[in-house]
Amino acid sequence: MGEDIAAALRQALGEGAVLDDLRTRQLHAADALSPSRAFSVAPASWNVPLLVVMPDSTEAVARVVRLACQYRAPVIPFGGGTGVMGAAVPCAGSIVVDLKRLNRVRAVSREDGTALVEAGAILKDLDAALQGHGLMLGHDPWSLPIATVGGAISTNGVGYRAARYGSMGAQVLGLEVVLPTGDVVVTSAAPKAASGPNLNGLFIGAEGTLGIITAATLRVFRAPEERRFATVAFATFEDGFRAVAELSALGMRPAILDLTEERRAPRAAPGVLLYLAFEGYREEVEAQEKRSLRLCREFAGQELGPQQTEAHWRERHLSGERYQQQVLPLLPEERWARGSDRRQAWDYLHVALPVSRVLKFRQQAAAIAKEAGATVQEYSVWTAPELFSLLMTGAAVEGPGDSGAFAHAVDAILRLAQDLGGSMEYCHGVGLKLAHLVEREWGSGLDVVRRLKRVLDPYGIMNPGKLGL
Ligand SMILES: Cc1cc2nc3c(=O)[nH]c(=O)nc-3n(C[C@H](O)[C@H](O)[C@H](O)COP(=O)(O)OP(=O)(O)OC[C@H]3O[C@@H](n4cnc5c(N)ncnc54)[C@H](O)[C@@H]3O)c2cc1C
Repeated sequence: MGEDIAAALRQALGEGAVLDDLRTRQLHAADALSPSRAFSVAPASWNVPLLVVMPDSTEAVARVVRLACQYRAPVIPFGGGTGVMGAAVPCAGSIVVDLKRLNRVRAVSREDGTALVEAGAILKDLDAALQGHGLMLGHDPWSLPIATVGGAISTNGVGYRAARYGSMGAQVLGLEVVLPTGDVVVTSAAPKAASGPNLNGLFIGAEGTLGIITAATLRVFRAPEERRFATVAFATFEDGFRAVAELSALGMRPAILDLTEERRAPRAAPGVLLYLAFEGYREEVEAQEKRSLRLCREFAGQELGPQQTEAHWRERHLSGERYQQQVLPLLPEERWARGSDRRQAWDYLHVALPVSRVLKFRQQAAAIAKEAGATVQEYSVWTAPELFSLLMTGAAVEGPGDSGAFAHAVDAILRLAQDLGGSMEYCHGVGLKLAHLVEREWGSGLDVVRRLKRVLDPYGIMNPGKLGL
């Protein structure tokens, strides 16, 4: 079967678009989820794919999917491979569709504030193209230099400017998608429609389980006239959180809103820091800065000047650049061997909660971590008071599939977020790592999604096993 489908794909796409050498296949055998962080995932879930294809047009993607249906071969959409939940990890006998050659910016309209871009474009390249029009992308994750447009939509990622412009999904006006049968659907990119359900929502955050996004019309934004930075110290996380909740309720939409309590020695700063940046038109920036700082003072915040936040802003893509240079060129086993997780169990949890439950969650999560002998190294709120993160470490894990106290604590904390009316993850998706908790999260909604999946993907070939589907 392997040779037949390879020959059929070569005929359909041309010789150079079908790669079967071992190194290329191995480089596509993992994303940024290492087995030692994937506590509930069977070690056998990581597979070297049968083939990697690199189509450069929507029609070529459709041809791949039609052939995959014919041969009943699983298809794995692959963007930058930087997702941290294993959503792009191939299953046995699969064809990885690497979209990075599908990377053209098809159109930019400054007047409409839109860009039509192919899904394999790297976010940083798109942003650079927009700069030529005096525009910018509203999605600005740490991984800007390495993540693709299609991957960011499919995980509904969150970046620095999310307080102002929303998640990546919020910026999608229209999509071009190759469905799991090989048909192509183009959703309306009208600025607003009241003519039925929004079809884009089916594919945003769907982790490639319902189709391969080949292009997107995105809302893009004027480059700001002015940007200003501020740093405020608080004596306690609670004080800082109350200030952030009030800022948000008042309608402040900063370009950076990052409340962090770092406990990592020796970097640990005294107390709690709130990084704030404001951007937009001049009068708005001045007004937001003035009122925000006044409000922080009301919560006993102490201004530290702009420098620390300015440095934070300059360095916000460093981890993405380091990942590009030091990790992406390595084979999965080489990546995992060098990771700090060889010495220590760790996890970075990002949950969403109603504002009223955040502090209660923090307290109860801390108790769960302590009970398990784990240490919380950092608590933070990023872009909105509802979006809460904690970085945990513990004694070294045994290896893939470890089910010790640390893994139990991670699950217990995620379940706590669900039980308090929140979500177990606000920006990285589900992938393989969180698939076992999807039923709790979706409740009766999961059956609806499964039925949709069956209708759209009758052969069950499209990224099987991800999102709990
Ligand atoms: C150093 C670092 C920093 C990070 N910082 C952030 C951050 O600030 N904010 C954030 O939200 N995330 C962050 N991430 C996680 C990651 O970068 C995001 O999840 C990103 O959006 C994934 O994009 P990608 O192109 O790498 O997708 P991939 O990892 O390749 O794929 C992710 C999922 O999308 C699917 N997919 C990919 N392309 C398509 C397509 N065209 N059509 C359909 N499905 C597709 C895949 O099958 C998979 O299910 C970070 C990761 C790293 C390593």
